[in-house]
Amino acid sequence: MLPFGSVAEAEAALGRSLTAPEGLWFRYSAGMHDFWLYAHNIIFLLIVYSIAPLPIAFLELAKPKSIQKYKLQPKIRVPPSSVIRCYKEVVKTFLFAVGPLQLFSFPTIKLVGIRTGLPLPSAWEVAAQLLVYFLVEDYFNYWIHRMLHSKWGYDNIHHVHHEFTAPIGFAAPYAHWAEILVLGVPSFLGPAIAPGHILTFWFWMALRHIEAIETHCGYDFPQTPTKFIPFYGGAEYHDYHHYVGGKSHSNFASVFTYCDYIYGTDKGYRYQKSQLAQLREQWKVAEQDGEMNGKLGKHE
Ligand SMILES: [Zn+2]
Ligand SMILES: [Zn+2]
Repeated sequence: MLPFGSVAEAEAALGRSLTAPEGLWFRYSAGMHDFWLYAHNIIFLLIVYSIAPLPIAFLELAKPKSIQKYKLQPKIRVPPSSVIRCYKEVVKTFLFAVGPLQLFSFPTIKLVGIRTGLPLPSAWEVAAQLLVYFLVEDYFNYWIHRMLHSKWGYDNIHHVHHEFTAPIGFAAPYAHWAEILVLGVPSFLGPAIAPGHILTFWFWMALRHIEAIETHCGYDFPQTPTKFIPFYGGAEYHDYHHYVGGKSHSNFASVFTYCDYIYGTDKGYRYQKSQLAQLREQWKVAEQDGEMNGKLGKHE
């Protein structure tokens, strides 16, 4: 709830006119309790989760030839019934685990100092905070995920997320409820270390989910904008983790590749990648030789 009764009061307190986004924010949030502003997050997560994986899901159904070369596990087709079952399970987890946790954690939001008022943060402030959030989340997620691959962690909790050996966008948050709750901690640590505006918090949560959906989408498109982010893992990187399955001791990181590199948990992935590159090179040479022989044959 904003401590100003009117736009004039807010402008007097800031010593300047409100910008257009600030005016909008004032009209929207002035009479709303901070608890309800924080609760928006659950609705946003549900909307992002329901919409972001749809384009690739439709492409999976339509199977246009032009994108087949980008499919990471081309022989695997997840049936629509499994996609729907996955969606229902995740929505249940959101409503019965993530939702209540979010509501109960409201005092923490106040305690760490996430603000809801004016002025709104600048683009630079948002960008700097998002960078911190992604780095902090990636580091702690790496270690929790690695622990979940212990025998106990995998057998009791993490095996659920690995049901999809060829992941799809909808399966990004498909996991045991305990895993969802535990992995929520690294997502919250960044905002606790560098608290910002609630709008930045909403944006962070939405971005983190979109990133996870992209990482699980099952396609590696060369035009993906995330390809330009240094040390970014992406779909191919995490797909390998699912492909290897429960025995996977490779590619634990959620966003970047540097943790796996530093702690030596990307060796299997790098070896497989180099083997594949060699094979592709051999196929290319064999194909060129075949074409050449064909041309020579025609001349004879
Ligand atoms: Zn795993
Ligand atoms: Zn995964």
